[in-house]
Amino acid sequence: MTGDAGRVIAVDLGGTNIRVALVDTNGGTTGFVATPTGAAEGPGAVVSRILLMIRDSLAAAQMDASEVLAVGIGSPGPLDRISGVIHEAPNLPGWTNVRLADRIAEQVKLPVFLENDANAAALAEFSYGENRGTDNMLYITVSTGVGGGLILGGKLWHGVYGSAGEFGHMTVDFEGPLCDCGNRGCIEKISSGPDVADWSIEQVRSGAKSVLSARMESGPLSGRDVVEAAAKDDSLAVAALGRAGRAVGFGIVNVAHLLNLDLAVVGGGMANAGAMLLDPIKTTVTTHLLASTGPSLRVVPWSLGEDVGVLGAAASARARMAGL
Ligand SMILES: [Zn+2]
Repeated sequence: MTGDAGRVIAVDLGGTNIRVALVDTNGGTTGFVATPTGAAEGPGAVVSRILLMIRDSLAAAQMDASEVLAVGIGSPGPLDRISGVIHEAPNLPGWTNVRLADRIAEQVKLPVFLENDANAAALAEFSYGENRGTDNMLYITVSTGVGGGLILGGKLWHGVYGSAGEFGHMTVDFEGPLCDCGNRGCIEKISSGPDVADWSIEQVRSGAKSVLSARMESGPLSGRDVVEAAAKDDSLAVAALGRAGRAVGFGIVNVAHLLNLDLAVVGGGMANAGAMLLDPIKTTVTTHLLASTGPSLRVVPWSLGEDVGVLGAAASARARMAGL
């Protein structure tokens, strides 16, 4: 191993798992380690776990911290990417104004850069994905929540306060269900895994026939259960994913009308539904996109899968070191 590969330590901090790897300039990874976040133990324990994982990752790659350039962290937010503070994170209990970048930097003695996870994922697909080479793209994650990241003119778009890319809280039905954010009919409130599950439960309770009704007897229903039922051609589950896909599709149409994009990449756990989610998204986009936006907006699934987290953390650190 040499230090000339421009490696950075990439940390993908999620509510469920933490993944750490060393990532070179081409997106090649070594020293990959993963462990459950243990979020219930609070920020102190999680920060200690991240530090241990950084040491484990370096050890696995037989490298020293002096041989890498920086640490990049992709995390849920809201967060301040410049000061490296996580203001809050719904899936990380107790995380209020945690100075994550400073706390890691004090121990690791490297520059540490923090980025919102969906923004980081957008940069990962833009930098390392199969569809790299397009300068105006939207990345959407459909998972426990719905988020997004925008690449405009070849750069991640942060907006004035860094909050750009809140795809999940775009309203697509202003008389729709009430979202946790206080608005109605947000894309997240229709398309996230938990909300797809909740809608399915409502339909079953209203008399819809579905294999999910038996599944509901044995515990809480998840988005994954709906995806699995849809894979077995359960008509209610297919309808739930169709509805989720249409909401995401209208969101893409709205963004593309405003910004005239080349590409929309759909990732996140619900993207594992494949065509059952992608097809309704594509149909909505094809049907409703104005012809004046041009023929070229493609909607594709993520090409990096779960690696989008570490690769995004690395890409965001690299962008920051380049002054972007
Ligand atoms: Zn909302």
